[in-house]
Amino acid sequence: MAETKKIVFATNNAHKLEEIRRIVGDSLAVLSLSDIGCNVDIPENEDTLEGNAMAKARYVKEHYGYDCFADDTGLEVEALGGAPGVHSARYAPGTSHDSQANMARLLQEMKGEENRRARFRTVIALIQGSEETMVEGIVEGDILTEQQGESGFGYDPIFRPIESDLTFAQMSADEKNLISHRGRATAKLLKILKI
Ligand code: IMP
Repeated sequence: MAETKKIVFATNNAHKLEEIRRIVGDSLAVLSLSDIGCNVDIPENEDTLEGNAMAKARYVKEHYGYDCFADDTGLEVEALGGAPGVHSARYAPGTSHDSQANMARLLQEMKGEENRRARFRTVIALIQGSEETMVEGIVEGDILTEQQGESGFGYDPIFRPIESDLTFAQMSADEKNLISHRGRATAKLLKILKI
């Protein structure tokens, strides 16, 4: 029997790993960074989502030799010229991944703003052999004036996709995945993965 093909997902985020493993099933072994003994925080110093995603995938390919994919996500708010964008995780000064502080800053920046339109965008960079590919997933929506809902993470309580009356934080994980930026990018990834 042929050995199951292995691919690295350049993350240690348990939620993202579980999600993708559930989708690909037994056809492909998806390894995390810690599974391959990579314990460094791969730098995300580029000024675009595409740049960061590809830099992470190339780091794994170059240092460990595995085929790999890596993602990066940003919330792009129209009235703020696309901010926080690539800086979404550290939008509140002096913090990183502090969702409450990030949302507080965003609500402050948007105070009195009538144009609430925003989108989440996920970019996934994939390296298979010597072939580099990129896919993206987008969900359009609006930034509310206050938080609604308790589920999810990040900016979910203040983001309501146009397809729904609920924020991402008021949806189940399955409801969110069906329309989310990451769900849509992952669907495209599956089509180009050589399983
Ligand atoms: P990452 O590239 O997936 O680490 O995402 C960067 C930042 O974007 C996170 O720290 C969150 O603040 C935000 N973010 C990414 N995905 C989501 C989501 O599905 N809902 C809400 N916020 C998100």
